[in-house]
Amino acid sequence: MLPKRILDYGKSGNVIREISEYGKQRAREIGPENLYDFSIGNPSVPCPEQVTQTLISLLQTVPAKKLHAYTAAPGDPGVRQAVADYLNGRFGRHCSGDGIYLTAGAAAALAISLTALLNPGEEVILPAPFFSEYVVYTEQAGGVPVIVPCRSDFQLDVDVIERAITEKTRVLLLNSPNNPSGVVFREDTVRAVSQLLARKSRELGHTIYLLSDEPYRELAYDGMEVPYLPNYYPNTLVCNSFSKCLSLAGERLGYVLVPETVENWRDVYAAVCGGGRALGYINVSSLFQFALPACLGQTADLSIYAENRRILVSALKEYGYEMATPDGAFYLYVKALEEDDMAFCKKAREFELLLVPGQAFYYPGYVRVAYCMDTDTIRRALPAFKKLAQAYGK
Ligand code: PLP
Repeated sequence: MLPKRILDYGKSGNVIREISEYGKQRAREIGPENLYDFSIGNPSVPCPEQVTQTLISLLQTVPAKKLHAYTAAPGDPGVRQAVADYLNGRFGRHCSGDGIYLTAGAAAALAISLTALLNPGEEVILPAPFFSEYVVYTEQAGGVPVIVPCRSDFQLDVDVIERAITEKTRVLLLNSPNNPSGVVFREDTVRAVSQLLARKSRELGHTIYLLSDEPYRELAYDGMEVPYLPNYYPNTLVCNSFSKCLSLAGERLGYVLVPETVENWRDVYAAVCGGGRALGYINVSSLFQFALPACLGQTADLSIYAENRRILVSALKEYGYEMATPDGAFYLYVKALEEDDMAFCKKAREFELLLVPGQAFYYPGYVRVAYCMDTDTIRRALPAFKKLAQAYGK
């Protein structure tokens, strides 16, 4: 017999990818120009020219035997040191290459970190709404997801988090800028949460870790600062990737950072290496590893997302939709115009609009609109959003 939980993961699939597959099929039927697919967070702007040129140069100058060979399991030491130097320069923290584990995107970074931190039955607090794969990674690591709601403005609710902490709590997993709400967690709540975790760790006699998932760090608008969590709470591990900021989602490049402020950081890092080994997530693409040092600090042209956000927010508000203030990422979390967000998404399909129901993020009653597409499509989709609102008497 096949293991039921794993079979269920495979059979139920990922809601967002299923909608996106439906979108591909529908686009073939009615023509892509007539479909408005706001389902998946696939970056639409090209990667920086620097990435392309670096890859070409590596292919032309580094002997193939070296370029395509195995690196150390956590990544090439020189590349890891380059990532650490970059982070130290930017955030003023003290980490070394010995605290970096290169991964196949933030997805692998999260799965590895949770495998490293959790004993069977230990709990991971997940403020909703959140990226649904957190549940899969937590369960696969033997942990138990404990889902708590954010406040109605999608900021963290510190009291609710406090009430969710038990003697089994091991990790609080935060994602800011947030997928799907677009919210950046404010510094005062980050401070309050850090103080809470420090106090609870003392009371319980074991460390509660903060896991900061930040693939959207570079996507913050209107000068919004995104607090760097290791600066607030020492026992923070960071999971990050270059999927969104460098538009390299398909290449799978990211990292886990274990800062030297983490208690027994060398052991925690060793556990991260163990997690990578246990999951078979070793030695991320050597070609992309070697390209990375020349591209650190660069971003794709993210201004298109800012423009899309401006157009969409103003039009949707005018049509009568309500949403959280999107500070970052490339998502809007819009209140569904009927109670059942699934039914609302179904209705949206009548206007060829593909939206993701809030249930997929463990926070129903809303839908996610991913606006990482070209601005022309956004403009062409506006009448469909208007007709959808009108169908609900707006
Ligand atoms: N975390 C969040 C919040 C995401 O939205 C995503 C992808 O959309 C990931 C992690 C995984 O990203 P990656 O492509 O780096 O694996």
